[in-house]
Amino acid sequence: MNKQNTIVVAVDGPSASGKSTVSRRTAAAVGWIYVDSGALYRGVTWKCLKEGIDVKDAQAVTNLLIKMNFQLTCNGEAVGYLIDGEDPGMEIRGEAVRAHVADIAAQQPVRVFIVDKLRQMTKFGNLVMEGRDIGTVVFPDSPFKYYLDADPAERARRRHAELAQREGNSDVTKVLDALKARDQKDSNRATSPLQIALGAKIINSTGMTIEQVVDTIVGDLKAAGLA
Ligand code: C5P
Repeated sequence: MNKQNTIVVAVDGPSASGKSTVSRRTAAAVGWIYVDSGALYRGVTWKCLKEGIDVKDAQAVTNLLIKMNFQLTCNGEAVGYLIDGEDPGMEIRGEAVRAHVADIAAQQPVRVFIVDKLRQMTKFGNLVMEGRDIGTVVFPDSPFKYYLDADPAERARRRHAELAQREGNSDVTKVLDALKARDQKDSNRATSPLQIALGAKIINSTGMTIEQVVDTIVGDLKAAGLA
């Protein structure tokens, strides 16, 4: 629970653990608002690349954070944003952003900036928020914290299927290597590494259907009289 008495379901876990689909469907099932926190880190990365800023130049990245206008939007189902009036759309899912986002997300000023934006989102209502540090850092007081995991091979298979549909990518080994590299960076960075939050329910979704995972979370909300 936070100061405005809105409720946040925190869903953390590594890349391709099923967080997005589960969080989106959970939000839809209970009529709450879905938040993809990774999209904000991707947005900052997109803006850096667009402005020709070296993503490892912490000072230049900080200067960008200070001068850009990052505006939150909400359509009643999900929270989005505009950066200097522009919606980056699917560009944040492309290879360039994917390759650099973990470097951007490792920088403390970027995290402070985005954590503040994520906390502001409670003004839109009850949220289902997915990420890496939602239960540990952004909303540690939430009574509904989940850590979603799946075996690396299963996660690579899922991400590969998703990429194949979008980009025609067909090398599953490359996908597995990229996934492991990003997990490694996310889990070992000094600031807000990917960790299991205290009190989080751990769900290993290997061999579970999306519906079963969603039902687990919705079941908890129902038991608490919230859905
Ligand atoms: O969830 P997604 O894969 O879109 O996240 C992209 C990247 O953003 C992650 O690899 C991670 O580096 C960063 N991230 C983060 N903290 C979050 C969400 C995402 O550091 N809460």
